[in-house]
Amino acid sequence: MFCEIVAGNLPSDKVAETERSLAFRDLNPVAPTHVLVIPKRHVESIGHLDAEMTADVADLVTTIQEVTRVEGIDESGYRVVANTGTHGAQSVFHLHFHVIGGRQLGWPPE
Ligand code: AMP
Repeated sequence: MFCEIVAGNLPSDKVAETERSLAFRDLNPVAPTHVLVIPKRHVESIGHLDAEMTADVADLVTTIQEVTRVEGIDESGYRVVANTGTHGAQSVFHLHFHVIGGRQLGWPPE
């Protein structure tokens, strides 16, 4: 489904974009900032990354940093989460990092 967002066939509220990555707002935000950062190239999860995706992973990290600056949460702090597999409660099987901030978050998360 996120491939359809990358292709422009599904709308998204874009926050940042590079040649390799896309960042857009989560439809159901859990905090004032809740942005999803995805690789444009389809990969299911962290567990499916390989050496061929090294450049994509590096770009994801710099895009996450860019999102935190654009959102003004780079100084106040934030959380980056990749829900993975069944126990990780992953529901969309296209790798995505949740970037969550803009309020005090608790720990542990549940
Ligand atoms: P998860 O796979 O559990 O890490 O979560 C997937 C996230 O994608 C959820 O937080 C959803 O609210 C979000 N989501 C699902 N579809 C869309 C969409 N079309 N645009 C933006 N966010 C979405």
